[in-house]
Amino acid sequence: MGEAEAGKARGLPEWSYVPADTSEPIRESTVGSVLREVAARCPDRMALVEGISPSEARKTWTYAELLADSETVARALAARFEKGERVAVWAPNIPEWVVLEFGAALAGVVLVTVNPAYQPKELHYVLEQSRSSGIFYLPAFRGNPMGRYLEEVRADLPDLRELISFEDWAAFLASAGPDQALPEVRADDPVQIQYTSGTTGFPKGAYLHHRGITNNGRLFGQRFGVTDEDVYVNPMPLFHTGGCVLAVLSAIQAGATLVCMVQFEPGLMLELLEHEQATHLLGVPTMLIAIMEHPDFSRRNLERVRSVCSGGATVPADLVRRIESTLGVKFSIIYGQTESSPTITLMKPDDTPEDKASTLGPVLPQTEVKVIDPTTGEIVRTGESGELCTRGYLVMLEYFEMPDKTAETIDEDGWLHTGDLVSMDERGYAPITGRLKDMIIRGGENIYPREIEELLFEHPSVADVAVVGLPDAKWGEVVAAFIRDANPDAPADDEALQSYLREHLAPTKTPKLWYHVDEFPLTGSGKIQKFAIRETWERGGYDAH
Ligand code: AMP
Repeated sequence: MGEAEAGKARGLPEWSYVPADTSEPIRESTVGSVLREVAARCPDRMALVEGISPSEARKTWTYAELLADSETVARALAARFEKGERVAVWAPNIPEWVVLEFGAALAGVVLVTVNPAYQPKELHYVLEQSRSSGIFYLPAFRGNPMGRYLEEVRADLPDLRELISFEDWAAFLASAGPDQALPEVRADDPVQIQYTSGTTGFPKGAYLHHRGITNNGRLFGQRFGVTDEDVYVNPMPLFHTGGCVLAVLSAIQAGATLVCMVQFEPGLMLELLEHEQATHLLGVPTMLIAIMEHPDFSRRNLERVRSVCSGGATVPADLVRRIESTLGVKFSIIYGQTESSPTITLMKPDDTPEDKASTLGPVLPQTEVKVIDPTTGEIVRTGESGELCTRGYLVMLEYFEMPDKTAETIDEDGWLHTGDLVSMDERGYAPITGRLKDMIIRGGENIYPREIEELLFEHPSVADVAVVGLPDAKWGEVVAAFIRDANPDAPADDEALQSYLREHLAPTKTPKLWYHVDEFPLTGSGKIQKFAIRETWERGGYDAH
């Protein structure tokens, strides 16, 4: 090994490499085994609370009850599905979603987690690509007629044989045979498929394993300080790792009480924090702003709230300070991605607001990280910008049945290439400087321009299009569409394009701002330079129609 190579292998302070801290062992756990362990340890403690209004209507489960229901679900599933088969869940954050997460894991069934805002085209894509054999669904949610959409797409999905409505949950539980055997489930077995898009084409299914998500939830919970005396309120969507791992698997492994909000609403959140005596809260920055601005904020007693965690997007320093001082809490910021189960780094509670606002925090145990030059693949010096890569127990198995996409993301040495550009300092703290991937983050939700662009391209009045994230005080970023009209004398009607998109896409993905341009700034190879569009917009160079 040459001197430079040896230096890189040692890493910090000169080179952007952090070896895995192995002081905390990885467990050979499964989503089912962690529930069994905690239910044996504290059977009577409250495990799960339905976060709805009014408080008297809330369903609750102790750890013993949660295990009993999860085992019943597992037996009912095992009678219908083989180990390894995929079963989708299409519902908001109802508590039965959590029971199904554990039940599916105990039955060795792979849960495909589907965004409840999806429209038929998106639903069809994920059910077909995952070859799902079954789906649990809520017939309607927030005006989305999910039952009807499912009827529309099912004829074209030959693998889909069981449709189970959450409205028939009791009958489903009653169908479990008492003697139904459950398969043996191992830590490296697949557990979930979560769809996440890259820059190209439709979403890819991150195929996650039990070892990855259980250990990630546990290690995240340890640094976040969740214990068996805590109450954890979660508004993060369960279909995303933010909900089903960072909330569910950290709270449950600690023996804490998890309060699951069916959907985020600031007044309800404040009531839950007070009434359920919450100590921990996870949410994207937009949610935290909303609760602090709510008229009930000053009259609610939030004394017990101790730790708040946010992530998924950069959190401005001002907001960090405001949250810490207004709520009197320790604030943490998590960085990760679905493909890494998800946490890679997590701020320590005592890190400074400046670090919290401007850098990614220290890596979690058992996680190796390096920053490379994306063209040469070489580790860069600290202070230089490059792509963050990670390796260890946390890396997904693959993108489900997409070997080419997997090979583009996980290299032969097992490094997951995140697509995020960072520059690491000599302590290992790293500001995000950009994204190799072309992604918009609106209120913590990732939106992939390519999917929206492809639909607009198909519209006859559109010649060319670029969908770009533009800065916004409330949402962080909002979606903007820049259109080159097919016929400049008869420009496309924005309202018509908007309703055309709404037939195919969730409302959050529909552009808020529309601009018509004569030409786009292009790279040498003819690709649209989105950063140049953004810069021109910031200088006031575009007029909205
Ligand atoms: P997802 O797979 O939906 O969890 O999205 C992961 C992506 O969100 C990452 O690859 C980053 O681009 C972005 N992201 C996650 N956490 C942070 C953070 N703390 N600060 C800035 N961007 C983040």
